[in-house]
Amino acid sequence: YCAKVRNDGAVIYDAAQDKSSEQSLSLLTELRHAIERDEFRLFVQPKIALQTGQVVGMEALVRWQHPQRGNVFPDQFIPFAEQTGFIRVLTRWVMERSVQLCQQLEQAGQQLKISVNLSTRDLMDQDLPAKFGEMLQRHGQSPKSFCLEITESAIMDDPVRAQNTLAALSAMGFELSIDDFGTGYSSLAYLKSLPVNELKIDKSFVLNMETDTGDYRIVQSTISLARAMDLRVVAEGIENEKVWSLLAGMDCDQGQGYFMSRPIPAAQMRDWLAGWRPPSIGQALSTE
Ligand code: C2E
Ligand code: MG
Ligand code: MG
Ligand code: MG
Repeated sequence: YCAKVRNDGAVIYDAAQDKSSEQSLSLLTELRHAIERDEFRLFVQPKIALQTGQVVGMEALVRWQHPQRGNVFPDQFIPFAEQTGFIRVLTRWVMERSVQLCQQLEQAGQQLKISVNLSTRDLMDQDLPAKFGEMLQRHGQSPKSFCLEITESAIMDDPVRAQNTLAALSAMGFELSIDDFGTGYSSLAYLKSLPVNELKIDKSFVLNMETDTGDYRIVQSTISLARAMDLRVVAEGIENEKVWSLLAGMDCDQGQGYFMSRPIPAAQMRDWLAGWRPPSIGQALSTE
């Protein structure tokens, strides 16, 4: 980390790099402690059927409540957890909490699917399917209640290994989703060969689709592509009713976004569900 090799082969000490590697080391130590100190929190964001307004499931999103830094968002530590391999520990934590939540909701009479995000390293983790299987068994839950989200780039990092892990997970009964679709470099021919059930359109295309024609067309063509491949299609980043009604009119199946709900602590999900009133979509649609 702290050494740079010059053209002539000499190794130069780089203090700036050293400082950052020290920081990385302390971040890794803190991440490890965060598990023991119970600083991670499971948040969930509801997934809504856009034609009916019914809640169909939720996505599990992790938060880190750091004693000094406050709420640390996943974008600030997931890439690092990924680089260092800590992600495997974290993914297992998220899955365990999601399985518990699913069991609690079931006991309260709610059958909702929970989506869990996987990273590149998870796809290379040979033990992952067995570990998940064991957690489900312990809580009397079925893989059919879970959807695993994988980004295109995570799959393309090592397509062969990804294919093996995904085939194993799919054979167990997990649903699979391609997350942030449209932002990576996957080939359609390759995606077609995977046992995928769902495409999630990245929020970067959805956020401004009312005003940006380019984004609108990307969303439109992704929905047609999903239809042609017989996949469910989900839009993330719905921030207002207009975008919901546009997507509903384009035959998009499901959506997530701040308009319906920001991610909330898992413990608040039951109350949120009890209070959810779908907007009158018919009315919204007719204003197009
Ligand atoms: P993602 O899986 O694509 O999750 C969607 C992100 O969009 C979430 O950010 C969510 O809070 C945000 N979002 C949802 N609706 C809206 C909206 O209407 N407007 C805007 N502006 N944003 C919206 P979050 O929770 O910060 O997570 C960011 C990314 O971190 C996730 O993207 C996912 O890739 C990763 N991540 C989060 N939790 C986990 C986890 O448990 N495991 C792994 N491997 N990755 C995770
Ligand atoms: Mg996701
Ligand atoms: Mg996404
Ligand atoms: Mg995204």
